[in-house]
Amino acid sequence: MTFSREVIRELLAGSAGQRLALQETYAQLPSTRCRRRTHCCSLLPEMSLLEALTAVQLLVDMVPRQRHRLSRRLIHYFFLNPVEILMCPFLEGQECVIYQNRFLGCRAYGLWSKGYYQQQTEHSRKAKRFSQEQWQKLGVSLPQEVVGFHVDYCPYVAVEGDVQVGDENLLRASDTIEAISEQLGPWHDSFRQGYFSDLSFLLVSNVLGLQEAIQLKFEIVGNFLANGKQERLAKIVEDVVDKLDDFFEDLKS
Ligand code: SF4
Repeated sequence: MTFSREVIRELLAGSAGQRLALQETYAQLPSTRCRRRTHCCSLLPEMSLLEALTAVQLLVDMVPRQRHRLSRRLIHYFFLNPVEILMCPFLEGQECVIYQNRFLGCRAYGLWSKGYYQQQTEHSRKAKRFSQEQWQKLGVSLPQEVVGFHVDYCPYVAVEGDVQVGDENLLRASDTIEAISEQLGPWHDSFRQGYFSDLSFLLVSNVLGLQEAIQLKFEIVGNFLANGKQERLAKIVEDVVDKLDDFFEDLKS
């Protein structure tokens, strides 16, 4: 199943209730404060389709100049994340530009117990090793420092006020969001399984086509590993960012 422009338009038009329910679920989590070290923003978080659609709507509603900057970073992220540690495209300086609407993964970071966080880290390590093996089958060896990278447990996040939050609360919120996102039908699973819950993949493949996006990524990763050159990527980014501008403007109308 491919997320064409029309599919995304229909999903956005038909998911207003679900996106509201998402905000209500977020609102049940306590406010937090932290030292804004932004270590947790070293990756674009995995997300449900519902959260991805919410981000797409935010991009549609942004002023074009800011959206253009974000699109550029999302495109870079899509092409180079197997070979470089890139910060989350939504991070500008020390600030998250979608902070009020940030994903569950961002909200829950620092609130999980250390034990549960380590389980999640191990799960994510396995997923990365699997991805590394898939690339290896295609003759590409990904850098170990990228494959082995993970975000450390953070002890600096504190809950505002006298509120207790534990793994159960966070798991309940995660299950609730998953259940709401499942209301979007088979697209929910398609985003998870076919697009690896990756918003950057969803956007780039929408404007380039699924196969072309994958082929180009393979080529760019290969070039990067062979000679570190990014001239071709620079041209592709210019092309894709223009197409993404059109994509967002089209969704607006
Ligand atoms: S969405 Fe915002 S809070 Fe979440 S990782 Fe990205 S920059 Fe950080």
